[in-house]
Amino acid sequence: MPEAIPRATRCTEVHARCLGYNAVSAMDSNVSSSAQIPVLRFRARLLAWYDTHARDLPWRKDRDPYRVWLSEIMLQQTRVAAVIEHYHKFLRRFPTVQKLAAAREASVLAAWSGLGYYRRAHTLHAAAKLITKERAGQFPATAAALRDLPGIGRYTAAAIASIAFGEPVAVVDGNVERVLDRFCGETLSDEKTWHTAAQLLDPERPGDFNQAMMELGAIVCTPRAPSCLTCPVVELCATRGERPADAKPSQQKKREIHYALDCRNGRVFLVQRARDLRLMPGMWELPETEPPLPPTKKKRVSRTGKIGSTTAQPSFTLRHSITVTDYTVRVWQMPAPQAIAGRWVTLEKADTLALTGLARKILRRAAEIRNKNSII
Ligand code: SF4
Repeated sequence: MPEAIPRATRCTEVHARCLGYNAVSAMDSNVSSSAQIPVLRFRARLLAWYDTHARDLPWRKDRDPYRVWLSEIMLQQTRVAAVIEHYHKFLRRFPTVQKLAAAREASVLAAWSGLGYYRRAHTLHAAAKLITKERAGQFPATAAALRDLPGIGRYTAAAIASIAFGEPVAVVDGNVERVLDRFCGETLSDEKTWHTAAQLLDPERPGDFNQAMMELGAIVCTPRAPSCLTCPVVELCATRGERPADAKPSQQKKREIHYALDCRNGRVFLVQRARDLRLMPGMWELPETEPPLPPTKKKRVSRTGKIGSTTAQPSFTLRHSITVTDYTVRVWQMPAPQAIAGRWVTLEKADTLALTGLARKILRRAAEIRNKNSII
């Protein structure tokens, strides 16, 4: 039987029914059991659904704080599918926080290569050093204390504290925010979202509950088309998918960029990005260049007297996105621009260097083409 909450119920009413009763129930054991049902049912249904439907993700296999922390940092602004491979690779290289703390920065950046947002790798490394040197390798066990570590904000601190240490603190990320807006039928302010999440949180299983909320947003209450028929809390939801999605204008910019691919005798010429850059400082990439010829047509006269044309073409083109910019990347097989300081590196060695994600992508594509056409 559906819960007795009308579909058009607004958030404040949902709070009154669900959250208010819950707050009372925590203090007053005499409150009637029927009054406690909505929030308790929300928790029970969500957790039962999570127990049977949660994706089998590698970081869910244990509650080791180092692994939870690593996965949470990697998952910031990166899709789950893209993180899985990097998560395994990174853990093979740095299986403990001590190993990570002792590593050279270049090695950490190399292991991070391909995940983007390299500031995360820098702060991860800095936090590992701090935990090892100042805390004898022990992670802080509360959200408040975790926030003192580099690179850990409100969300990440709550996620680690609840999942690894069982602290009853709620998380709010983009998925939770969307679920709660739809569930309540209005766009909640930031603080109201955190407050609502905290009221719904199951204090017995806070880590699972938080992951369940995020999972619900990731695979059921998805941005474009929520799958309400399969939603475990559909009977409590104020909108049941009828709330229009917020139409956010795209902020992506477009840019074209050219790189020189100079490969000789199994070595490639690379340059290092300045260490004071905001994006990917100190990482290695191909030298940027101007296209060897502007894309104009050179007229020529054939022996038969016909006029033809030739057009400069890059060796290959690919697409790449960094933060808010979508790049069209044109790669030219050509001598590296003179007067650029760089280094010749064997292709094997390049694989272990702290390459930018784009450089790695270019070299991978070049290798594929080389296997077909001997491009390099
Ligand atoms: Fe989201 Fe639909 Fe579930 Fe409501 S019923 S929380 S809109 S998936």
